[in-house]
Parts: sequence; C-alpha cells; structure tokens
Amino acid sequence: MSDLQKTVVLLKPDALQRDLLGEIINRFERKGLKIVGLKFIRLTDELLDIHYAHLSDKPFFESLKKFMMQTPVVGIVLEGLEAVSEVRKIIGSTNPRQADAGTIRADFSMNVPSNLIHASDSEETAQNEIKRFFSNHEIFSYEKISDRYIFGEGV
Ligand code: UDP
Ligand code: MG
Repeated sequence: MSDLQKTVVLLKPDALQRDLLGEIINRFERKGLKIVGLKFIRLTDELLDIHYAHLSDKPFFESLKKFMMQTPVVGIVLEGLEAVSEVRKIIGSTNPRQADAGTIRADFSMNVPSNLIHASDSEETAQNEIKRFFSNHEIFSYEKISDRYIFGEGV
C-alpha cells in the first residue's frame, strides 16, 4: 500500500498527570491506527534541544523543555493510511482554544504548553522522530485480523 505511513506521538506530562493516557490512545485505536511501538521515554535537555530546535529562539523555549521533563512521556509509533496527516487532524491545532471541536486538544485541554500531545508534522519529520526516539527493535511489524477491514482489502 503506497500511502501506509508511520508517525510518532508523544503523550506529554499533562496527559499522564490528568489520567488521559488511555483516553488518547483509545482515539487512535478507534480510528484504525496500528500501534507498532510504545514505551515510556525520559526526555532530556539534549533531546529536547533537537526535538524543539525550531522553537529555540522563542521566549517560552526553556519553560517548554522543563514542562516536557516533568514526568516520563509515552512515545508511540502509529501506522496507518496517510498516518502523518491523519494523526495531526485528530490531535488538532497547537493552541487548544483554536483547535476544532472533536480533536484531542480541543476536547481535553485549554492552553499551551499543556496541549497533551506531540505528533510529527510531516513525513520527513516522522522519519527523523522515529530514529530520534526508537531503536529498530522497538518497532514491530505484525498482522491484525482487522487490517483487511480497516485498510479495505478483500472484505
Ligand atoms: N508551545 C508553547 N507556546 C507557544 C507555541 C507552542 O508552549 O506559543 C508548545 C506547545 O506545547 C506545542 C509545542 O510547543 O505543542 C511545540 O510547538 P509546535 O509549533 O511544534 O506545535 P505542535 O507541532 O506541537 O502543534
Ligand atoms: Mg511541532
């Protein structure tokens, strides 16, 4: 399938503190995105300098990094048709008050930086973030009985 993609999400410390990990993971499962990697990650200042390099000149950069290091984050690799853009659609805009109703950020959060979740913003970013946060042996390839229903093959 040509547009089968992998993308990275990180469930941020506010998702963990507010007991929203299951709720958020459930939304991706219901959509039909396949979890192919999942683990706790303890982010470091060095990792965050790379991960949020595009924000390094912003006044909130240091406090954003501190926020992201408050607890472990849950790192997930999701696989699905056009997964990168589909996941961005499901999480909603960066500012939760501008995010569309029905998105994770709009439904469960109010402000930045605590908008619950990170997701790769392009296919190239997704490839880099997979390498940044996961080893090859932590990404799994497996068949699910539901694959043919979700991906539309031979039902
Ligand atoms: N952020 C913030 N203040 C801002 C903009 C962003 O604290 O004015 C935080 C917020 O948690 C956001 C993260 O920085 O999710 C990364 O910003 P980016 O622009 O990459 O947005 P995202 O890709 O997460 O939607
Ligand atoms: Mg981003």
